[in-house]
Amino acid sequence: MNRVFADLPVTVFEAMSQLARDNNAINLGQGFPDDPGPEDIRRAAADAALNGYNQYPSMMGIPELRQAISTHYAHWHGVTLDPMTEVMVTSGATEALASAILSVVSPGDEVIVFQPVYDSYLPIIRQAGGIPKLVRLEPPHWRVTEEALREVFSPKTKAIVFNNPLNPAAVVYPREDLELLARFCQEFDAVAICDEVWEHVTFDGLSHIPLISIEGMRDRTIKIGSAGKIFSLTGWKVGFVCAAPPLLRVAAKVHQFLAFTTAPNLQVAVAYGLGKSDDYFLQMRKELARSRDRLADGLARIGFPVIRSQGTYFLTVDLAPLGLNETDEAFCKRIVNDYKVAAIPVSAFYEEEPVTSVVRFCFAKKDQTLDTALERLSDAV
Ligand code: PMP
Ligand code: GLN
Repeated sequence: MNRVFADLPVTVFEAMSQLARDNNAINLGQGFPDDPGPEDIRRAAADAALNGYNQYPSMMGIPELRQAISTHYAHWHGVTLDPMTEVMVTSGATEALASAILSVVSPGDEVIVFQPVYDSYLPIIRQAGGIPKLVRLEPPHWRVTEEALREVFSPKTKAIVFNNPLNPAAVVYPREDLELLARFCQEFDAVAICDEVWEHVTFDGLSHIPLISIEGMRDRTIKIGSAGKIFSLTGWKVGFVCAAPPLLRVAAKVHQFLAFTTAPNLQVAVAYGLGKSDDYFLQMRKELARSRDRLADGLARIGFPVIRSQGTYFLTVDLAPLGLNETDEAFCKRIVNDYKVAAIPVSAFYEEEPVTSVVRFCFAKKDQTLDTALERLSDAV
């Protein structure tokens, strides 16, 4: 039996969604919108399936999509990528992350990860034989500091895995933090595996800055994206890996045996979607920011100390000032049982020294869903 996987609990997203189903609760836990998503993109997928895009596409992704990814990132981030040698399509960012980590990390390599850490990183790092070195980020700002990096970087550091915008903390990292990371990656000759699935979901005029665009990082960064988040179609599982040819070539060797390829009709539709006008993406941010404010204002009225969300589908509340005498996990269990609203305890994103007072709520929901959840929570604190 492989202990890396046999000993793992079921991931918190599935566990909380199951609890939500069992309790017939409103699910503000796992991050997915409750509207059907952009109709033209869904229609493009349906048309492509009807018109013959149903057999194995090329392992690296259909050329139209690889070109669309390259054009999209040149337009939005000024990053120039050769679609044929620097872009690969994967079955979701989850597969992209596994392909990237398994392609870079060998037994004994140290890999720096930041807590709160997305659930899939550590098991894959360990399966590769890597040794995780944890950096603990602190609420409410969750910033990266020079002292923390100095403690974990060493000549054994092979890679960092960095998530920006950060799920669950809803931080969009400023250039200053990215330059700090870039400086350390260069000093210690480390590869940066950057999970940027939330790149389009930023608020209040904040823009995502990809680490690959920071000076000195072009050839040592593996940038990962997800169409599921860009188009609010989280079940589609179409991801992207972008990296210089020597890094991408090895990631492709892993991809060929993890998923090999990705549903071709979805690839056609994502290629179409990536070409949408700026207005589409700006409108999506505006609508999500409105939902964020609706939930944040409602929770604040009830008495929850809300930590402002800069991006992602999530906002967090800090229970500490409430003096409830219960952990985030106990709080989440109580509200799903007693109030029929599911949320995610942020301690689930820590392996060591968890922050146990912060709870994550997903606001990517219809007004009515948010209002009903707020009504139900009105005397929860
Ligand atoms: N990384 C992060 C930080 C995420 O939040 C998610 C899903 N929300 C993923 C990776 C997985 O993306 P996908 O569904 O495309 O596999
Ligand atoms: N990324 C999603 C979240 O943070 C969940 C994805 C999953 O369920 N694996 O809620």
